[in-house]
Amino acid sequence: MKHLIDPFDLSKSEIDEIVALGEDIVAHRDRYAGACKGKKLATLFYEPSTRTRLSFTSAMMELGGNVIGFSDARNTSVSKGETIEDTTRVISCFADIIAMRHPIEGAPLNATRVSTIPVINAGDGSHAHPTQTLTDLLTIKRELGRLDNFTIGFCGDLKFGRTVHSLIKALSRYEGIKVVLIAPEELQLPGYMKYEVCDRYGIDYMEVDNMESVMADLDVLYMTRVQKERFLDEAEFERVKDSFVLDNAKMALAKQSMVVLHPLPRVNEILKEVDEDPRAAYFRQVENGKFVRMALIVKLLEWAKQDPAVHFNGPSDAIKGEYVCPNRKCISNVENVDHLVRRDENGELHCVYCESKIK
Ligand code: ASP
Repeated sequence: MKHLIDPFDLSKSEIDEIVALGEDIVAHRDRYAGACKGKKLATLFYEPSTRTRLSFTSAMMELGGNVIGFSDARNTSVSKGETIEDTTRVISCFADIIAMRHPIEGAPLNATRVSTIPVINAGDGSHAHPTQTLTDLLTIKRELGRLDNFTIGFCGDLKFGRTVHSLIKALSRYEGIKVVLIAPEELQLPGYMKYEVCDRYGIDYMEVDNMESVMADLDVLYMTRVQKERFLDEAEFERVKDSFVLDNAKMALAKQSMVVLHPLPRVNEILKEVDEDPRAAYFRQVENGKFVRMALIVKLLEWAKQDPAVHFNGPSDAIKGEYVCPNRKCISNVENVDHLVRRDENGELHCVYCESKIK
């Protein structure tokens, strides 16, 4: 069974297939009105969300399917101590597909151990957010007309921004991508992303600490919010929260064809004055999120029909029980699951659930 837990679960041709289906849905919406008739999506949201949950809901409704689920786990058996695995087994009896958001990294991956229906990671901690990535890709495709040969600047919270991590992974599948990382020292991209993703897949990247010097080079500017909920230390958050702000003066330095994306919500990192600029694509991006989630649901249900076998989505050669993940927000330290690590090409060990480096 195919799940979407990490962007690397999709090959380039699978990504292209989903994006192309998203474009077809945009062009012929009514053709898909009954595509999921009789099917149920379960949205299991253990963490706040506006766009992702409602766009999944509205995607399934547009496909003629139904939606069950929760948006506050305190009202469920989770508050009685039920594990992810048990909740997943239960939901597998009721629904045809799951979209799960969880503050604990690796929770959706662990769900695949027992799930008899496809699981979609709708965001796990600061680790991954692959459906935002599909949203971003459909938006870039529709705005720029291509998914290769462009320069993208990521600005703001590159350390905790799971949307950034996931989009860089997906872009590593495409040719001619240049990445400019614009962040203060405290919020730089994690090492595993630089060395294991950018270096390994040959993504050309550079790091800068201001926006002005690179604005003119960018085809896409991907703004992010400084994510307060990910900080363990309040003082560190206060120090960096207003780091990089996009305004009309900075937009004046950019190409006329540049596109501004933001996964939203924004706090103050894009001034309202920028909303009127035709290059501001972040509200168009929201709508693309619904279309691409429609495409993803259709594809995952189709693939599940072809291959219904239950299997854990992690690597088959993981080392079990010998090392403990250092990340306090990793599922392997929160629930009673096997500690699993894998060795990368340089011989370094990483947690299978959250990708943290094992020292
Ligand atoms: N909506 C995005 C996410 O869920 C970005 C954010 O919350 O800042 O990761």
